Amino acid sequence: MTVPDIPPGSLFGVDNLPYGIFSAGGGTPRAGVRVGEHVLDLSAVLDDPVFAAGSLNPFMAQGYDRWVAARAQIQDLITGDVPAEALHAVDDVTLHLPIEVADYVDFYASEHHASNVGRLFRPDAEPLLPNWKHLPVAYHGRAGTVYVSGRDIVRPSGQRKGENGPVFGPSQRLDIEAELGFIVGTGTPANTPISPDDFAQHVFGAVILNDWSARDIQAWEYVPLGPNLGKSFATSISPWVVPILALENARVPLPGQTTPKPLPYLRETDPWGLNIDLTVTWNGQPVAHPPYREMYWSPAQMLAHLTINGASARTGDLYGSGTISGPNQDQRGSFLELSWGGKTPITINGKPKTFLDDNDEITITASAPAANGSRLSFGDVSGRILPAR
Ligand code: CA
Repeated sequence: MTVPDIPPGSLFGVDNLPYGIFSAGGGTPRAGVRVGEHVLDLSAVLDDPVFAAGSLNPFMAQGYDRWVAARAQIQDLITGDVPAEALHAVDDVTLHLPIEVADYVDFYASEHHASNVGRLFRPDAEPLLPNWKHLPVAYHGRAGTVYVSGRDIVRPSGQRKGENGPVFGPSQRLDIEAELGFIVGTGTPANTPISPDDFAQHVFGAVILNDWSARDIQAWEYVPLGPNLGKSFATSISPWVVPILALENARVPLPGQTTPKPLPYLRETDPWGLNIDLTVTWNGQPVAHPPYREMYWSPAQMLAHLTINGASARTGDLYGSGTISGPNQDQRGSFLELSWGGKTPITINGKPKTFLDDNDEITITASAPAANGSRLSFGDVSGRILPAR
């Protein structure tokens, strides 16, 4: 049979073809590609055992030339006949974590976000710290608690600052951070830094990422070594990995970096960002539209920075962009910024809110320009808050 018609205007057309790991009808998890409202089982149509694995890592490890060839093969396949058992309606499948996460690092690459947080946390000082425009600031996160979209998030408990010393209990300022995540397909051995110009040879794809953040735990613990338990309880990613190969039409110039100029190892021949539009929905109500094109540091610079000290990179490494915020109030990618530290509540379905309540549900979507004036979708990352245990 042929692949069913892709609905007109679908954001999952032949120019997108994101990869994921799915299971259907009690079968084992395997690799698939989304085509319109269907999932094409790659293990059934491509003669390579990597697609029968429960993560995309073995396929990603085959490298750039293979990613190009497989994409061309899939684009060719879906215009012809495929066996009926290789196609599943997207509503009939279960989607799993698409990668085995190796290391997870989260950056802080939005000047608007870093400035807003600086003003909130250090009102009497310069919003940006002296290093911020010289290097993409990051912390090392927890790879083992990266979850696929749809998993419920249990409210974390921890220490927060109280009137007479620390108090222990469920977080009272639970927040989100709308980000993109970049996935390393082929890494680099120790002491072999990756040039920003070689980004596309190493990075396989991108996902939407929600860096759940307990602001009260974070505020008490973060000096001097950065976030730890305020973030390590959960990070959610979208199930579909959009290939970097699909994002050629989304490339845009970076908005800054003239004063100061970055050091040579962070300079690209042709510096580029990505014109990706995100939408944050809180209990069904859109509350923010963070624009990725506003990011100061590029994904290629982040990867170059990760490896410049001699650190290796591995298949499955995930790095987050940091919260995406634009210059306008409705472009802020966290509730910390949207509610200005809890001082100006946001009205959600008629109720004033600042941070997350139990049973709240957050969905983040993203889309980008594709070929011939069309657009492509990243799908979504969603999660619901359960009461503390
Ligand atoms: Ca973050």
